[in-house]
Amino acid sequence: MTEQTRHYDFAADALFLDFDGTLVELAPQPEEIVVPPELITLLQRIQQESDGALAIVSGRPLDQLDFFLAPLRLPAAGVHGAERRTADGRIIQQPVPDVHHLRERLLPLLNAHPDLQLEIKRGALALHYRHAPHLEQRCIDTMMDALKHEPGFTMLHGKMVVEAKPHINKGDAVAAFLREAPFRGRRPVFIGDDVTDEAGFAVAQAEAMHGLGIKVGTGPSQAIHRVADPAAVLGLLRQALDARAQAASAG
Ligand SMILES: [Mg+2]
Repeated sequence: MTEQTRHYDFAADALFLDFDGTLVELAPQPEEIVVPPELITLLQRIQQESDGALAIVSGRPLDQLDFFLAPLRLPAAGVHGAERRTADGRIIQQPVPDVHHLRERLLPLLNAHPDLQLEIKRGALALHYRHAPHLEQRCIDTMMDALKHEPGFTMLHGKMVVEAKPHINKGDAVAAFLREAPFRGRRPVFIGDDVTDEAGFAVAQAEAMHGLGIKVGTGPSQAIHRVADPAAVLGLLRQALDARAQAASAG
């Protein structure tokens, strides 16, 4: 079966969506991403049709997700699950390590290379090298070295970014949502594009869950299905909603 003919009924599922690289194209700077207006409409429709079983699961903090997806305020996990807003609007903050000392260990590299960008989050640091791809190995080595002294963190190597994050992952966030209404009892579907999403695929595809992962773009993945890019993800969401509307009008 090709991706064009594969049928999804996301409104019947518990749908978990990564944000950057999955719903929107990556941009030179994280703040420069462009949110297609259709995305807001599609997410709103799925949220209604699925009785709210839709959540964003991202490395970004919740306030950034709310900013880009306004006026929507969806259930969401931010900073890879370190913060989470449940379907009934409660905010759950996981205990996270202090990033202060880690930041100090990265400063010499940052001062020497202004093209690098350090994003500071609650409990996590993201070292972006999009504007200096030749510094990739330096960034990895420096972060690994720094983390030898800061045991509260795990290193993640994503697309043009090396990140130190707490020992919590997107899979934990998905598992937490799946214990709660309206996600509980539904088939989990996780769509994501990067290494951090593999933990989400693993939880969705766990044997007892009967769910599936959809990997966006190239690169190795344990996800069962794959699509090309964010435009294709929007296409899947649109198709699922259109098929549902047709089935409803056909009675
Ligand atoms: Mg992503």
